[in-house]
Amino acid sequence: MDYYSSKIRTLIEELSRLPGIGAKSATRMAFHLINQPQETADRLADAIRDARAGVRLCRTCCTVTDGEECPICASTARDRSTIMVVENPRDLAAYEKTGRYNGLYHVLHGAISPALGIGPSDIKLKELMMRLQDEQVKEVIIATNSTLEGETTAAYLSKLIRPLGILTSRIANGIPVGGDLESIDEVTLLRALEGRRAL
Ligand code: ZN
Repeated sequence: MDYYSSKIRTLIEELSRLPGIGAKSATRMAFHLINQPQETADRLADAIRDARAGVRLCRTCCTVTDGEECPICASTARDRSTIMVVENPRDLAAYEKTGRYNGLYHVLHGAISPALGIGPSDIKLKELMMRLQDEQVKEVIIATNSTLEGETTAAYLSKLIRPLGILTSRIANGIPVGGDLESIDEVTLLRALEGRRAL
């Protein structure tokens, strides 16, 4: 890529680090961006900077939020006896969109994967175990994905939680194997939630 200016080369390199963006798309995006008015490019750069600097993890459930605690954890209308464990904030959003779940969440930010070298200490598991010290918690619904990693995480979690005397349940089958929660329609999600079984 030596025939491009070094500034464009840097931009292409940075863009090609994004998930799903190969060298070809990165090059196309870079040339698109430098042909835009200055304000357009500035707006994108500002949005990236502001989101990165301003977004943090909720001190309770670890989802991404703008403040100390997310609106769900801060709400007095939520049922604090149930915690649904999901892999990422997009899964949380999928369940919230159904409007039928009124408990709290816990976002792991990943799943255990021995193949990828991701162990229990690489996800927000310790934070979940801390929350379970609270006597209000009666049920943990494990809603990790139906992938190998999601199932491994579910099995690990239930083994950890069972001795605490808290009911542990797993969302029902119905979510296709390898299925990503966010790409599943609301009816399927509700069915999976309502058909959950105790572990
Ligand atoms: Zn929260």
